[in-house]
Amino acid sequence: EKSQSPNKSTVQQQILVEKNKNGNLGLFNKLQKERKNLPIFKHRQGLLDKIKSNQISVIAGETGCGKTTQIPQYLIEEGLNKNRMIAVTQPRRVAAITIAQRVAQEMNTTVGNKVGYSVRFEEAVDKNNTKLLYMTDGMLLRETIVDPNLSRFSIIVIDEAHERTINSDLLISLLKQLSERRKDLKIIIMSATIETEKFANFFETENIIYLEGRCHPIEVFYSKKPHADYLDAALNTILQIHFEEQDGDILCFLVGQEDIEDMQQMLEEKIELFPKEAKKLNICTLYAALPSHLQLLAFEKSQEGERKVVLSTNIAETSVTIDGIKYVVDPGLVKTRKYNPNKLIEMLLVVPVSKSSAMQRAGRAGRQSAGKCFRLYTKYTHDTLAEFMLPEILRSNLSTVILQMKAIGIKDVKGFQFIDRPHEDQFIESIENLQQMNALDANENITLHGKEMAELPLEPIYAHFMLVAFATNPNSISVVLSAISLMQVENLFFIPKGAKISLLDVLLRFQLGNSDQLTKVNMLHQYYLAKNKKSFCKENFINQKNIKKALEVRQQLENYFLDILKKRSKKNQKQNQANIQQQSEEQQIQEELAKGNTLKKLQEEHKTAIQQEINTEEFISCIAKGLSVKAAKLNNDGTYTIIRSNIQAYIHPESLLFYSKPKPDYIIFNEVVSTIKTYLRDITEISFSDFKEISK
Ligand code: ADP
Ligand code: MG
Repeated sequence: EKSQSPNKSTVQQQILVEKNKNGNLGLFNKLQKERKNLPIFKHRQGLLDKIKSNQISVIAGETGCGKTTQIPQYLIEEGLNKNRMIAVTQPRRVAAITIAQRVAQEMNTTVGNKVGYSVRFEEAVDKNNTKLLYMTDGMLLRETIVDPNLSRFSIIVIDEAHERTINSDLLISLLKQLSERRKDLKIIIMSATIETEKFANFFETENIIYLEGRCHPIEVFYSKKPHADYLDAALNTILQIHFEEQDGDILCFLVGQEDIEDMQQMLEEKIELFPKEAKKLNICTLYAALPSHLQLLAFEKSQEGERKVVLSTNIAETSVTIDGIKYVVDPGLVKTRKYNPNKLIEMLLVVPVSKSSAMQRAGRAGRQSAGKCFRLYTKYTHDTLAEFMLPEILRSNLSTVILQMKAIGIKDVKGFQFIDRPHEDQFIESIENLQQMNALDANENITLHGKEMAELPLEPIYAHFMLVAFATNPNSISVVLSAISLMQVENLFFIPKGAKISLLDVLLRFQLGNSDQLTKVNMLHQYYLAKNKKSFCKENFINQKNIKKALEVRQQLENYFLDILKKRSKKNQKQNQANIQQQSEEQQIQEELAKGNTLKKLQEEHKTAIQQEINTEEFISCIAKGLSVKAAKLNNDGTYTIIRSNIQAYIHPESLLFYSKPKPDYIIFNEVVSTIKTYLRDITEISFSDFKEISK
């Protein structure tokens, strides 16, 4: 059992309890009425009959008709869960959390009781009480490693299957196998009205249930000309809607947190200048890294005479429904992962959406009445868009998937039945990659190291880094935990437009060694120790939300890490017991100690907690070893060559080392960013001897 983060969920519960005090029964009754008004309600019995009489059901329906929130409740109302849990998977953490909160309200309870959620680095579950668990597909996948039969559950719902994330694809394949072993397990695949046949064919079932939605006409407008600056175009469109269109809220799709924050700021500046008599415009934001109590704000109803604009990433495309939206602003872009197997690099890129995404987005405008969708691209561009997005599994590095499959016990990964089979090169490359990290041996079997890596909720490279660092120098683990946590969050700094300070100035305040990583760790530790955290962030242009997030992630990683150590020590004990028949006194004491070995003790023993002192050299030799696949070497012309892939790149201007003179000969980077040039980001200088050591 992974430890919960009680603080977080109690805070959320408190928020809900507060809300409940203010007329909860009224809310509950209101919600019951709303439930009966959803399009899905009249299909209730038919749905249940089909689900009862089939092991596998494929359900397709328009976004917003009630699949995610209602079907699981129907199943519980009918007792189909049979005293076990129902899992409902979501591709995104935000969706899992907000939907659990919504359903808890509908069931007149709070999250963490009858209804819970489980996402990476955060969960609210009551082992004895929770009947309905909304979880990310990644979390359910992890569970299959520990319990391949998923015995906690009687029904598993894979939701948003049309998104074709790697995790949900893999789960669907595993569930097909599991359905043979567990005839009592019910499997429900839910998707928007695309790809339905594909899933049914994969499961060899004819049990497809189509739910009709309720969508009002939507008028679509295109731009006459392409826009040079999409944020600017979106800003103008939002303002135009606000001043010229009738009541109704606005949903604007943006590509990421950074753009959302920029837009928020630009809008706030414009609102300052609104004439007195203008209608009030409230700004809400919605993106994965936003704490859930802030996400909830986007779902609150607008007051009479006010308008709300929700600035959202792709999450609002299908996973969550925001009531009251009548206008959609769609720049037609999405941030996505793209992998280039020839170059061995994976990048986050902003790319045009597919036609089916564009249609989904527009559909968000017509939930309650006729709506309008403003596409910030031309009709011509729309005609050139791809019909669907390529499934993630076909455009990703497979290292994580393969390691997980191996940890689950699937020996022949290439022979595995995928919905869409990845390319041969993707397999070869990722297996080599895992072998280089010693996660797989020469025969492609998982090693002990690989098994431990799979237990950590991190990309293999970071899991490898953590374990190798600890093996290299146990004293470095505290700093390494901090460094890895920081690598999991984006946008640590927020420097407002027009500020007289640059990111480099801020970094210089915390500089430690010739290393972006150490510098950021230093900042994180100073934040942790700071008495007044808010003013610390303000003075240093730190995005407090995100640095808090980094600390939360660190806490979780520390727990996972200590779990691994506990397992190691248990294993050692068993071995010792087998070796020595007669236990010595010394050993008995050891055992007693181990029994009472609380997390705290382990933490002290292994120095995982945040300490003031940071040993620069220790860290640098650890990062050189742990992230050796990310080593690069200086060329005569000032560029760097990435050793593993032979790509040439520049140091990113936001790195402390950008201005270093002379330029460091050997570096470890964390990220490759390609725009017009290829840049290396987050850099640590390493020594020649370290470099020689790792390039052997
Ligand atoms: P589907 O899964 O079919 O897309 P959902 O079950 O997510 O639909 O949502 C059904 C309806 O429930 C939505 O159309 C909306 O009216 C309401 N709803 C869902 N989540 C929320 C929420 N967090 N706040 C307010 N209403 C919500
Ligand atoms: Mg849904």
